[in-house]
Amino acid sequence: MVENKVMDKLVSLCKRRGFIFQSSDIYGGLESTYDYGPLGAELKNNIKQLWWQDMVTSRPDVVGMDASILMNPKVWEASGHLSEFHDPMVDCKNCKARFRSDQMDLDNNCPNCGVQDWTEARQFNLMLKTHYGPSEDSSSVIYLRPETAQGIFVNFANAQSTARMKLPFGIAQIGKAFRNEITTGNFLFRSREFEQMEMEFFVKPDETGEWLDYWTDARMSWYKGLGIREERLKLRPHGDDELAHYAAACFDVEYQFPFGWSELEGIADRGTFDLDQHTEHSGKKLTWFDSKDNKHITPAVVEASAGVDRTVLTILVDAYHEEEVKGENRVVLRLSPKVAPTTVAVFPLVNRDGMPEIGEKIVESLRNNFAAFFDAGGSIGRRYRRQDEAGTPYGVTVDSDTLEDQTVTVRERDNMVQERVAIDQLPSYFREKIR
Ligand code: ATP
Repeated sequence: MVENKVMDKLVSLCKRRGFIFQSSDIYGGLESTYDYGPLGAELKNNIKQLWWQDMVTSRPDVVGMDASILMNPKVWEASGHLSEFHDPMVDCKNCKARFRSDQMDLDNNCPNCGVQDWTEARQFNLMLKTHYGPSEDSSSVIYLRPETAQGIFVNFANAQSTARMKLPFGIAQIGKAFRNEITTGNFLFRSREFEQMEMEFFVKPDETGEWLDYWTDARMSWYKGLGIREERLKLRPHGDDELAHYAAACFDVEYQFPFGWSELEGIADRGTFDLDQHTEHSGKKLTWFDSKDNKHITPAVVEASAGVDRTVLTILVDAYHEEEVKGENRVVLRLSPKVAPTTVAVFPLVNRDGMPEIGEKIVESLRNNFAAFFDAGGSIGRRYRRQDEAGTPYGVTVDSDTLEDQTVTVRERDNMVQERVAIDQLPSYFREKIR
């Protein structure tokens, strides 16, 4: 498969099967904004639920929260986003195309029109602005949050005291973030509206090194546990020239996309920068009382900051396969049953002799424990192909033998092996398979 074609094929599969649509499609769309359709919403929710379970509910030392998108603008002054959250931008004077100057060689011609006539590079703030309330003057300007993390930092004391957490402990949240990116692209990879899954882990300042090791391991294992191919994942340490001014060390989890190795998540030792800044700007103490040493300390932070949409894209890219079966091209999404929107699709072989009714009953019996789906439309071959493209791991077919012996055919998506299973054994059969 030619690598650069994979993205185009994936975009069209996502639309065809109802994973992801262009936003406002009937009006010609809005560049680089996407809507998750029926299958995409399930996939995305499964990913978020797995993250939440791994990071919050399964742990005694991390609590969750859900902050608002709009915050007091002073937050962005304190965090440095108003003064520092810039990307350098250049325009081509000839065709007016706009680029990030740090991502291209200005000795080259414009990739859009082939002419070399650049403006000076200038800084562009990435925060999206709006007005709060009815007056549209400078006093009402506020920002859509460019990251969820600041909602956690400003709630440090609230969350710590109400949940009675002791160091080391974390606060996690999932939510939308907005960045007015100069250049977007590569489908879900870089958009202006996206979702983050962030966890800030508060530790004693001399313990950041060991916790950074711990979280880089934990986060790599999480991605592998989603079924993503290990050889396409790597952990890349930031060089000194890339580190944000407040970070002592940082690792990116990267995936080998068709367009190259790119970041899925940043895991950073942020020191005490965030709580120091908010203490200074708000005048409120953001400390923790260390009863062992009998003193108040400002905790340091190890952050794990992941993108939901980039994880969705990774899972889709990694799962996309084409193969030849009996002289025909088969497109199959090899999604792990943990994230697949549908786990079991049930098909009556033909729409008579009571087969559809049996199929519907099977779906009802599975629905509480598995994402089960009934499909009676079209030839059985077409129904299998649709479910292969939807990434459904198992197909169950009701046929004339079912009427005699109450067994069905179970087909595995990846190897297409079929076996007979008794209807009343199906729940335990799938539970065993999907463990
Ligand atoms: P990049 O270098 O790709 O712009 P970043 O280093 O600015 O990313 P962070 O600020 O570390 O990104 O954000 C944490 C995570 O949020 C990223 O790893 C990514 O998964 C996600 N993310 C950031 N910007 C975008 C975007 N424009 N579209 C989709 N996801 C994003």
